[in-house]
Amino acid sequence: MESNTAIKVGGTTISPGQRVTVDLPVADLYTSTSLHMPVQVICGRKPGPVLFVSAAIHGDELNGVEIIRRLLKRKALKSIRGTLLAVPIVNVHGFLNQSRYLPDRRDLNRSFPGSAKGSIASRLANLFIKEIVSKADFGIDLHTGALHRSNLPQIRANLDDGATLDIAQVFGTPVIINSDIRDGSLRACAFERGQPVLIYEAGEALRFDEISIRAGLRGILNVMRHIGMLPALKNPKKATPVVAKSTSWVRAPDSGMVSPKVKLGNSVQKGQKIAVITNPVGDVEEAVVAPFDGIVIGQSNLPLAHEGDALFNLGAFKSVPRVENLVENFAAIHDDDPTPT
Ligand SMILES: [Zn+2]
Repeated sequence: MESNTAIKVGGTTISPGQRVTVDLPVADLYTSTSLHMPVQVICGRKPGPVLFVSAAIHGDELNGVEIIRRLLKRKALKSIRGTLLAVPIVNVHGFLNQSRYLPDRRDLNRSFPGSAKGSIASRLANLFIKEIVSKADFGIDLHTGALHRSNLPQIRANLDDGATLDIAQVFGTPVIINSDIRDGSLRACAFERGQPVLIYEAGEALRFDEISIRAGLRGILNVMRHIGMLPALKNPKKATPVVAKSTSWVRAPDSGMVSPKVKLGNSVQKGQKIAVITNPVGDVEEAVVAPFDGIVIGQSNLPLAHEGDALFNLGAFKSVPRVENLVENFAAIHDDDPTPT
C-alpha cells in the first residue's frame, strides 16, 4: 500500500501515522518571556492532500480557536488520508492582549507574505507562510466580525478559481461572498501561489457563538470529506449555498443612539425602516432605511453611532426568499447538532 510522505515543520519531521504538536518560536515578550505558535500536525498513514486550518490571525477573533479545539478531538482524525496542519492561534501576541493587532498596531492580515527582517507582523507572516502555507494544498482560515460586530456565518473566497469555488460550496454556509482580494492578506498571498483558501467569517470578536462554532466545525469536516481526507458520508445533506451579487454597508445618517429593527439573517426590503437613531433627549428621531432588497449578513452590536458609522452589512441576492429559507434551515440544523463539544 502506498504511504503518505513525512512532513517537516519547524525542524521537526513528522512521519506517516504520527501526531505531534510543534511549537514554532515567535518574538519574545520584552520581559524576556519566550512565546511560541502551537501547531498540531497529524500526518495520516495514507497519502492525500495537505490542509491547513488556522485561527486568530486577528488575535481577538476567538470562535476559530474553539472550532480547531473541537476539530482536534474528533476520533476520525486518527485515520485521515494526507496531512492536517492545525494552527489555533496564529497571532499569539494579539491573542494575549485580546487585540486584533500585533503590539506595533499592525494588522497581520495586511502583512503577508512578510519578511524575515521586517516588522513583528511581517516576521510572523513570513514564518506562517514558510512553515505552514507553503506546505499545504488547501487552507481554511477562521475569522469573526470585528469588535462589536457580528457576522452571519459566511464563506469569503475567490470564486473565479474553480477549485476554490468547489470547496466553498461544500463548506455548507447559506451564503458565499466573492470578495475582493486585499493587498497583504493571507488570501491574496495564497491566491498568488495558486492555493485554494477559504475564509470562514462567523460571529463577533471576543465572544464564543455556539452556532458559528458548530457550523465552522461541520464545514471543515465537509471540506475534508470532499478532498478525500475523510471518507464521504453515505447520505450527505446538501443545501447549495447562494453567492451574493454584492454586499454593502448601510451607514448611520446621523449621530445618536441606535435601535435596530432587524436581526442578523433577516431579509429586508428596499425602503424598509431597519433602525431608528435618536438623540439622548429623544426629540429627534431619524429612520435608517434599507437601500435595496437583501439579507443582513453583518451587524453592529453597539447601540451608539456617529454619523457615517457602519450599522448593517446587507447582501444582495438573485432570490432573497431562497437565502432566507437557507438561513432558517441552517440555524435549525446547527441548533440541535449532536456534534460533541
Ligand atoms: Zn479577522
